[in-house]
Amino acid sequence: MAAPLSPDRLVKILRDEGVKISEFPGWRTRERDDETGKAFGPVHMILNHHTAGRNSLSIVARDGVSGLPGPLAHIHLAKDGVATLCSAGRTNHAGLMAKNAYSSFLDEASTHPAPSKASGTVDGNDVAYGIETENLGDNKDPYTRAQYDAWVRINAAICREYEWSQESVGCHKETSVEGKVDPRGPVEGYGTRGQFTFTPKQFRTDVEQRLKHPASWSPDTTPPPAPKPTVEERLTALEKRVTALEKKESR
Ligand SMILES: [Zn+2]
Repeated sequence: MAAPLSPDRLVKILRDEGVKISEFPGWRTRERDDETGKAFGPVHMILNHHTAGRNSLSIVARDGVSGLPGPLAHIHLAKDGVATLCSAGRTNHAGLMAKNAYSSFLDEASTHPAPSKASGTVDGNDVAYGIETENLGDNKDPYTRAQYDAWVRINAAICREYEWSQESVGCHKETSVEGKVDPRGPVEGYGTRGQFTFTPKQFRTDVEQRLKHPASWSPDTTPPPAPKPTVEERLTALEKRVTALEKKESR
C-alpha cells in the first residue's frame, strides 16, 4: 500500500538523501483533496516537470494560475538546488495521463510507450508525486549542476522510501495527452559529465545509479585524469628540451 508520506516523513527522506530543503509557509496543510473531494493516493510514481518560467515558487506552492488552482506540485526545485516543499496532499500537476504510459510506470516496465489517448486516461493527480523544476523550457535555459543533482536525489529518495525502481520515475511529456513537452533543455553537468541534454532515459539511469548507493552518497565530480603520455611522447619532449639547451649553450 503506497500511502502518501506524511509531511514529516517527506522532510526526513529528502534530508537523508542530502537535499537542501525549504518549507513554504502553510505547505503541511495546503492541498487539493478537500476542494476536489478526491483523496491523494495510493501513489505509484513520480512525475517531473519544468516550470516554463522564472520566480515561480509562490505560483507553484500556493497561487496557481488562471483555471488551475495551486498547489501545482509537491516540490519546487530552484536553480540553486534548494527544494521547497509545497504540499503533501493532492496537487494540480499531472493532468490526464495516457493509460498505456501510466501502466508502464505502474508496472516498472523497462520501456515506456508514447502516450496514447486512445488507450484511455487516468487522473495523474491521484497517483503521482509532482516535482516542478525551475527552467524556462525554451531548450536554451540550462538546468544547473546543483539543480540536476538535487533533482536526482529527490526522485531517488522517494523511490528508496517505497522500494520503487527508477522505472517509477516519469516525465510529464511521457504521460501527457495534452501535448506537454516538459522537462527539456540543456543540463550544465552531473558527476564527471559535462554539459548534456536532458532526457528521461538518462535521468532514470542517474536515479538508478544513486539507488545502488546509500542515501548519503554523492557522485564523484572529479574529472577523469588526463591519459599518461606514451614513451614516444616523453622522448619527443625530452629531445625538444635537449635541443633547446644546446641552442642556449652555443650562443
Ligand atoms: Zn508539466
